Amino acid sequence: MTKTNDVIAADIGGTNIRLARICNGLILEEVRYQANFSILRNMSKLEAENHILHTIEQAMQQLHHDNVQGLGIGFPGFFIGNSGVLAASPNIPQLKNFALAKKLSDILHIPVTAQNDALCAAIGEQAFGAGQGHKNLLHITLGTGIGGGLIFNNTQYTGESGMAMEFGHVQVAYENQARLCGCGNHGCVEAYASATAIAARYKELAGLETSSKAIYQRAIDGDTQAADILESAGVYLGIAIAQAIKLLDIRTVTISGGLVGAWNILHPNIMVSLNANLIPPLKGKISVIPSNLQDNAGILGASKLLG
Ligand SMILES: [Zn+2]
Repeated sequence: MTKTNDVIAADIGGTNIRLARICNGLILEEVRYQANFSILRNMSKLEAENHILHTIEQAMQQLHHDNVQGLGIGFPGFFIGNSGVLAASPNIPQLKNFALAKKLSDILHIPVTAQNDALCAAIGEQAFGAGQGHKNLLHITLGTGIGGGLIFNNTQYTGESGMAMEFGHVQVAYENQARLCGCGNHGCVEAYASATAIAARYKELAGLETSSKAIYQRAIDGDTQAADILESAGVYLGIAIAQAIKLLDIRTVTISGGLVGAWNILHPNIMVSLNANLIPPLKGKISVIPSNLQDNAGILGASKLLG
């Protein structure tokens, strides 16, 4: 039987795995899995690798994967160029130099590629979303953590060791009490503007444990503490974006992820601090645009990895 143009794309997260059969940016069929990768922390390298391979293989069985071009995977970690080799994964420290794509290809007998999840979101946004028509694009994923992906002259930029555009770890606060980030440094934007940071700050100030989505709703309903936290998250994001723009001279920034739901509060604050921190010729020249792909930027980008 001849192959279709369809591909299988996977979006692997810390708690969820999503696989979809996709044709030219159209999701034909999909499955979502709960996958608790926190259990990987107690496993050996080999056990953790086998657990990941087996979980993806199992998920594949739930989809029609006949006659597809192959499998493209977005995974939270650092990949060496386009080799599909995971150099390291911040959340699963024992996974080093894991040939994820090759091992899955040997199991599934189809071509497999894998790339950083935030870079996949950048690819998806440029191909199908708010970044269409821009040959240079900085994309930010704004959810439980903060990631970044760069398309530079229509090329995916990975850096020398897959660690380019670790946008969440751009430093935005330097005072003594700067917040501790999961990376071990203080003052990273992820420690101020991620959904996790927003929820933690609200718990500190208001004594209530709730989601960033609920905090946004409270802000809309007149809770000034909730509004202050979201406004300051926008301010810190603007500072971080300004640092990136000063290095890259890119005019278009797109943002995806759960916190895009708080755009009405975030965006005006992003723009004020972005323009305050840019060099004069760039002030007012940068567009910061929300994704229009709902939560599909990453999986659509993964579908483009196979070329
Ligand atoms: Zn950090």
